[in-house]
Amino acid sequence: MKIIIIANRLPVKIEKKNDRLSITQSEGGLSTGMGSLELNIEKHWIGWPGIYTDNEEEKEKITERLKKFNYHPVFLSAEQIENYYEGYSNSIIWPLCHYFYSFVQYKTKFWETYQKVNMQFCETALPFIEDDDLVWVHDYHLMLLPKMIRDHRPMVSIGYFHHIPFPPYELFRVLPEREELLNGLLGADLIGFHIHDYMRHFLSAIYRVLDLNCQLDEIHLEDRIVHVDAFPMGINYERYHNAPSQPAVKKKINNFKKKLKNQSIILSVDRLDYSKGILHRLNGFALFLKNHPEYHEKVSLMMIVVPSRSTVNKYADLKTEIDQLIGEINGLYSKPGWTPVHYFYRSFAFRELVALYSLAEIALVTPLRDGMNLVSKEYLATKSEENTGVLILSEMAGAATELSDAIIINPNNPKEIEMAILQALSMSEEEKKERLKKMQKRISKQTVKKWANDFIDEIQYIKLQNREIL
Ligand code: UDP
Repeated sequence: MKIIIIANRLPVKIEKKNDRLSITQSEGGLSTGMGSLELNIEKHWIGWPGIYTDNEEEKEKITERLKKFNYHPVFLSAEQIENYYEGYSNSIIWPLCHYFYSFVQYKTKFWETYQKVNMQFCETALPFIEDDDLVWVHDYHLMLLPKMIRDHRPMVSIGYFHHIPFPPYELFRVLPEREELLNGLLGADLIGFHIHDYMRHFLSAIYRVLDLNCQLDEIHLEDRIVHVDAFPMGINYERYHNAPSQPAVKKKINNFKKKLKNQSIILSVDRLDYSKGILHRLNGFALFLKNHPEYHEKVSLMMIVVPSRSTVNKYADLKTEIDQLIGEINGLYSKPGWTPVHYFYRSFAFRELVALYSLAEIALVTPLRDGMNLVSKEYLATKSEENTGVLILSEMAGAATELSDAIIINPNNPKEIEMAILQALSMSEEEKKERLKKMQKRISKQTVKKWANDFIDEIQYIKLQNREIL
């Protein structure tokens, strides 16, 4: 038996500098989770290597270099990236699944390319898949893939995990390809979501679009049963928890402290995305500054915005709005030696990021909709009894289900953000410790390793059950 992981991206990135190809490891949650799978079996990974090339010789060279890691690249052309990745995946499925219905930009070409690219992933994967294997497909870029694989390998075990929210039926139904997408997913034996709400929405779409028989967490097809379950994704807790005591991180923390003098830092970290509620957060912070001049020169918002999908129109527009709003706030409230919003439009390496987590008194996480939100968990993991912190978290993040001891807010109300900041700034050390302890207990158990192992265990259990039926 082998495990075949199929995701839009490989866990490594190929880059070309001065005609030399280099491979760098990615640090995303998915590759960490997969890397820590407690399975002593052969693992293969299929995905896009993050580089464009039309040169067949170069493709072969890359394929050969990745082969020794059991990574198998799917090469995509610029046109495919535009229509499958930026188009169908990120201008249709992403906004719809995050409830941004009016942001959906529909083009027939998007759908055509989405189907073709899913087939291309299938063709790359098939030579590695044998009946006894376990295939794990990841995320909304590849919703058609489970059925494509099932059509060629009827006996193989297939799992699919949806890393983003799944919207209610009334939203999902607007997609002209709703039936194809749902049928695509039903090729799997197990379909996983972060939380029960998404799972419920999915089951209701299955029932209403396909008129299939759903019983609790099972969908009964003519020849198979498809299982649906919730698996909240976690983080590598120990890695974050131990980081602040490493000398290199300590040095960074001290450097930041010196520069920021005695200011209290409210930290926010996210990719530039309309689902993250970045403008709502800024409006809430602006209201806090307006109504609480006593905190001027004492509190700053440190806002890290990681560039993302900048070629998709909605993202480019949002960047302009964020820049303008930050400019307005700083223009209105700055004083010599104090800037209310420190804005970084770039990504931070692990050490810098944990140094900022460790330094920040408050983490302000305000998505309008978020599948899970790992930043909130990473912030909490980095804290300790001696260095506490307060998490302000939107009820619209999947993580809010587990992190109910955070200050939970509705990001649509700037007054709630203002009041939450006030509450966090005046919270007693005792209360901070108590809340932190409860949340750390949960996230230290529900790690990314456990997430991956739980999912694999469940597919294996289903496989055994199916064998008994046969
Ligand atoms: N991250 C990072 N560098 C940065 C900012 C963020 O490596 O400068 C990482 C962060 O540690 C987290 C991930 O990006 O693991 C963001 O995950 P999250 O679930 O919060 O949001 P997503 O981007 O997946 O929607």
